[in-house]
Amino acid sequence: MVDAKLVEDLAVDLLRLAAIELPSDVKGALEKARGQESSDIAKANLDAILENIRLAESMKRPVCQDTGLIVFFLNVGHDFGSVKGVPEAIAKGTKRATEEIPLRPNAVHPITRKNSGDNTGAYVPILNWSYVEGDYLEITAFPKGGGSENMTFFSMVKPGEGIAGIKKFVIDSVISSGGQPCPPTIIGVGVGGTADLAMKLAKKCLLRPIGQRHSDPEIAKLEEELLKAINSTGIGPMGLGGNITSLDVHVDYAHCHTASLPVAVNTQCWAARRATARIYKDGSVEILSHRR
Ligand code: SF4
Repeated sequence: MVDAKLVEDLAVDLLRLAAIELPSDVKGALEKARGQESSDIAKANLDAILENIRLAESMKRPVCQDTGLIVFFLNVGHDFGSVKGVPEAIAKGTKRATEEIPLRPNAVHPITRKNSGDNTGAYVPILNWSYVEGDYLEITAFPKGGGSENMTFFSMVKPGEGIAGIKKFVIDSVISSGGQPCPPTIIGVGVGGTADLAMKLAKKCLLRPIGQRHSDPEIAKLEEELLKAINSTGIGPMGLGGNITSLDVHVDYAHCHTASLPVAVNTQCWAARRATARIYKDGSVEILSHRR
């Protein structure tokens, strides 16, 4: 059985890494975007974002004041063994991280709006489980900012509208979001399945590194076309105009009912925080997202 204290400590470490240091693909994409901007205001916004990232790392402070609602993705290897106690250990780690890093307590009761004070509560931290081949437990901390999560959209597109209907819905969603999700964003799109699965896919594909295309060439082509269309809107960094509104678009799909075409959009802000590590069956730990 997995060592609960090891999981708790790793949850704290991953939340710290995610909150303070953006993954290198995100930093690289923001630097590339700076080189692609022509207007002074877009350049100034990206300079401020890049300076913010540099200061966060050097001062060991969270990269944004909104340290997010705490979300984790867990891949359990078939040969890893029991994961008994993991949810409790991650919740403990979340409470500790809130105090030690510190993180802003963001988790409130949806009706009373009473803040739990420690980033935990009903179903929070949110745990998304998958099962994979291997002898490890892979944990990704994915704290999700409120401004970008609020820019989430869902539509049951008419199947007859096909790919044009999917594109229109995604682009309309991005245009209606404007500067609210703190662009340049990453746009996650889930197509097919049931409504809940489409939404899950839209969020999960935000874990994919920027620039990595879907393995299905049709989906990869759709990603490229959507990215080009979104960047032609001129929304730009922080919504103040520019060439780069999104750093990337990631799409994933599931087969769906012949009568349906569910499409979900989940937006990630420039503070695209994620940190991943594996615990192997022998108790060793490997950080995957932040290599030095
Ligand atoms: S949307 Fe992202 S960058 Fe903007 S305030 Fe929220 S967490 Fe921070």
